[in-house]
Amino acid sequence: MRIGHIVDGCEVDSLSGRIFTSINPATEEVLAEVADGDDQDVDRAVRSSRQAFDEGPWRRMPPWERGRLIGKVAEIIRRKTDELAMLDALDCGKPLKDNKYGDIPVCARIFEYYGGVPDKFRSVVFPSETGLFNYAVREPYGVVAGIVPWNYPFLNSCIKLAPALAAGNTVVLKMAEQTPLSTVELGRICLEAGIPAGVVNVVNGGPETGAALVRHPGIDKISFTGSTSTGKAILRAAAERVLPVMLELGAKSPSIVFADADMQQALAGVLFSGFFNAGQICTTGSRLIIEESVAGEFLEKLAARASRLRVGDPASEQTDLGPVVSRAQYERVGRYLALGEEEGARTYLSGGLRHDPSFAKGFFVWPAIYVGVRPEMRIAQEEIFGPVLSVLTFKDETEAVRLANGISYGLAASIWTSNLGRAHRMAAAVQAGIIWCNTVEYWDPSVPTGGQKQSGLGEDFGMEAYRTYTKAKSVFVNLTDSRLEWGPQ
Ligand code: NAD
Repeated sequence: MRIGHIVDGCEVDSLSGRIFTSINPATEEVLAEVADGDDQDVDRAVRSSRQAFDEGPWRRMPPWERGRLIGKVAEIIRRKTDELAMLDALDCGKPLKDNKYGDIPVCARIFEYYGGVPDKFRSVVFPSETGLFNYAVREPYGVVAGIVPWNYPFLNSCIKLAPALAAGNTVVLKMAEQTPLSTVELGRICLEAGIPAGVVNVVNGGPETGAALVRHPGIDKISFTGSTSTGKAILRAAAERVLPVMLELGAKSPSIVFADADMQQALAGVLFSGFFNAGQICTTGSRLIIEESVAGEFLEKLAARASRLRVGDPASEQTDLGPVVSRAQYERVGRYLALGEEEGARTYLSGGLRHDPSFAKGFFVWPAIYVGVRPEMRIAQEEIFGPVLSVLTFKDETEAVRLANGISYGLAASIWTSNLGRAHRMAAAVQAGIIWCNTVEYWDPSVPTGGQKQSGLGEDFGMEAYRTYTKAKSVFVNLTDSRLEWGPQ
């Protein structure tokens, strides 16, 4: 399979002819040869988006028409669910059933939601002195660079694209080098929906391509999802040109279980949040913070269920855990597994890089659980992005809050308790942008989500994301013939 960039309505090779390969992480076989973008390719894509914004019909068309075309993207996504689900299964290793029944329908809903927004977002008129008409409108920024990671390829691209388009921007998308296929398909879908050429361009490539996009003078806003370290580098580069940046970054989210929780519910939630998508979700509940009195029994049941999770071919609907995305990620998880033991934590479930003869190929990692973890250990502080759970215990609510907040991240937390007052107290006390009480990993395109602390700046989803892709303009109009009286007449 050969995959190009999407520029100005066409699928094109790199100007240099350079390619990279995308690897199927379950088989380690080459899945596609992909055009590898450099500065010239980025320049070509940004110029096309610039022209589409400055001269094209996109921002000038009636808002309902822009909304209708965005809604059309949703229709096509629904029609292509099976194909899109399979692309992310093959390219990323995400289990097919998660894509088919989870991500892809959510992506369609995202475009449906934002398709309904453009003709409903109102400007504000301010009460003012007689003779003055004061109002504020929100305008699109212009060309938005959307730079996204591999862990939810299609979903991450849709989350950036839909609100930016609804607001009237044009977009250059860059997916991570590990998983380019479904984002290029998204570019094709936008064209099929009738979105004018140049409004959505897609450039493939790695960190260098991303950096070229960030420093390109034709970019008006950067929207980035990825690791905190890359987010900081982008923020530094953007400071040069005072470019607005929105960031969705890394995390080390806690699942906090109290002794008064419904244990079956908590067990299911901790298992899901800890190991779903092989622990490669920004909101993965990778720290279990559990009340000491129930920890023993809970862990026994958790480990029993985790060890029965079906690891295997992501293209099979029977699979719970596919491989992690790449050899680099596999090796990174392996380093953290070794580190856990070096730091003095105890292996409770020794999944990890188990070498099963029936898995001669592929970057498979089995669920692992560490107990005896101290809050300062690196396996309790750093994002591993694999199916590895670090367990800490607490005696009371104050200690639970201290452990949950004792970290530089603040993206999400799940709280498991049957005490309603405690649920609300914890929701207020825990420093995270998303709090789930007695549920977890639940998303809704209409509800804004964003990170606190080093987990991000700004919000995805909801009207907040729409606003993120607009800037305010205030207009003061003198309706009278009066003049300013100042200085000698
Ligand atoms: P990453 O930061 O390495 O890469 C993300 C993207 O940035 C890729 O497209 C990459 O090519 C590009 N990039 C890398 N260096 C760049 C640079 N200097 N300038 C511009 N672009 C550059 O992250 P990753 O390893 O691909 O993804 C995993 C991370 O993403 C995790 O930390 C995870 O928590 C985070 N994530 C966060 C959210 C959220 O909503 N907060 C959602 C998904 C993933």
